[in-house]
Amino acid sequence: MSQPTTSGNFLGHPKGLFYLFFAELWERFSFYGMRALLVLYMTKKLFFSDEMSFGVYAAYMSLVYFTPIIGGILADQYLGYRKSIMLGGILMALGHFFLSIEQPIFFYLSLSLLIVGNGFFKPNISTFVGTLYDKHDTRRDAGFTIFYMGINIGGAVAPLLCAWVAEAYGWHYGFVLAGIGMLVGLYFFYDGQRKNVFGNNGYVPDQLNYNQRILGMHKGQLITVLALLSVPVFALIVRYNQYEHYLVGIAAILIIGALGYIYSTVGKIEKGRLLVVAYITILMTLFWAIFEQAGSSLTLFADRNVNLVGINAAQTNSINSTFIIFLAIPFASLWTYLAKINRNPNSAIKSGMGLILLGLGFVIFGASANSMDQLAQTPMWYLVVGYFVLTVGELFISPIGLSKMTELSPPKYLAFIMGVFFTSSFYGHFFAGKIAQLTTVKEGESNFFSEGIFGQLTEMITGLESGMSNAPEPAFQQLYNYVSVYAGFGIITILIGILAIIISPIILKMMGGIK
Ligand code: GLN
Repeated sequence: MSQPTTSGNFLGHPKGLFYLFFAELWERFSFYGMRALLVLYMTKKLFFSDEMSFGVYAAYMSLVYFTPIIGGILADQYLGYRKSIMLGGILMALGHFFLSIEQPIFFYLSLSLLIVGNGFFKPNISTFVGTLYDKHDTRRDAGFTIFYMGINIGGAVAPLLCAWVAEAYGWHYGFVLAGIGMLVGLYFFYDGQRKNVFGNNGYVPDQLNYNQRILGMHKGQLITVLALLSVPVFALIVRYNQYEHYLVGIAAILIIGALGYIYSTVGKIEKGRLLVVAYITILMTLFWAIFEQAGSSLTLFADRNVNLVGINAAQTNSINSTFIIFLAIPFASLWTYLAKINRNPNSAIKSGMGLILLGLGFVIFGASANSMDQLAQTPMWYLVVGYFVLTVGELFISPIGLSKMTELSPPKYLAFIMGVFFTSSFYGHFFAGKIAQLTTVKEGESNFFSEGIFGQLTEMITGLESGMSNAPEPAFQQLYNYVSVYAGFGIITILIGILAIIISPIILKMMGGIK
């Protein structure tokens, strides 16, 4: 299942990488284009309250990263990556097109089609990238970093374009554009298969099993029917999102159970590697919980307490993706070069570095308060520099995490393990919501980060005394809440990153020869 392709190279990487690059670029174009419209569409067109809109948004964003675990299992056991990616892409395209019908019932069903479709698409296209490289191919991290650049080209361009189309021509055109993006992505994937650039990877793992009929259907048909039946279920979870925390708990139990089962069936080296998978997933959960402030509290911080020049608060969401576009190739070359001279830091160290840089980015956001003006507005350069530093952190940890999953997993469970990795975003989004809530100003309640050691740290980093959390002017109170939470979590993240580097030799040993 995981033999490298033999179909030639392009820019020093397997040709197949570039087909997957464009397929994922367009899929992410559709994903981020639609995401940019979502909250505004709910509040302005469907007339949902803010609270309902945030609830739906958080449930959607987290569930999108919950289903990859199921899509991963189904690909490993029955479908293979190729069929899974096609099925997921078609479901997602349907979701985008249905969204353009401006009716609440279509709204929830569309979100759910996207949730289910992403479960088949996202983990499997990522795993598929890994199959293009030989077991110890040193280009793997670089390949994933290039793939990650595709993700972010889609992520940077789509919000600008879809939002413009939605504003100029109407919401449904914005959603239709996202749907067209998805179809273009599927075309690239189809074209890659037609030109045979993926070697013999990604086919149905066991054709006999696949052909066995249940209720008159082979496995592909049965899974498609079950996937469609699950659509109303996820639609209900999104609608009644206040109960989502039950799913968060149940998912944790099931994942730990499944990992425990796999652990009991594999040999000693693979046992160690599985523990590292769990370790990296936990570090990534922390990473996304902090990082995903970007779409929520950081956007409001930019809106309320940053002196923005040239862009509005919503557009600050493109800063991160734009930096990745410029940094991905230099980083990919750096990893390849360092591997050549035997100096490539191992992934346990890279994970620690990623966390330290993310933390540093948030400390910079916190430090911006040192230069605030009389209206509690901070200079924009802190925001941009903070984003730059955390983006470098992202390049140390996120594409490398993807790459490691494809190496650390027992081959039989490759896509499932990728699904486990994506649950870090599921949990990350869930906790990110809780952290964002800490930044809201509540009458008569003092902020957790204004007291004790955190109060002192906040004062050191931000220059603001804890009395500011009760300042009479709301703008100052709000600023205090943002910067104290950012400084506090920034320091916690840096400390965990340092710890991760300290214990990296132990983790490296558990990886059994993988770096
Ligand atoms: N921005 C990356 C992507 O869209 C990572 C997202 C995530 O896993 N939270 O793939």
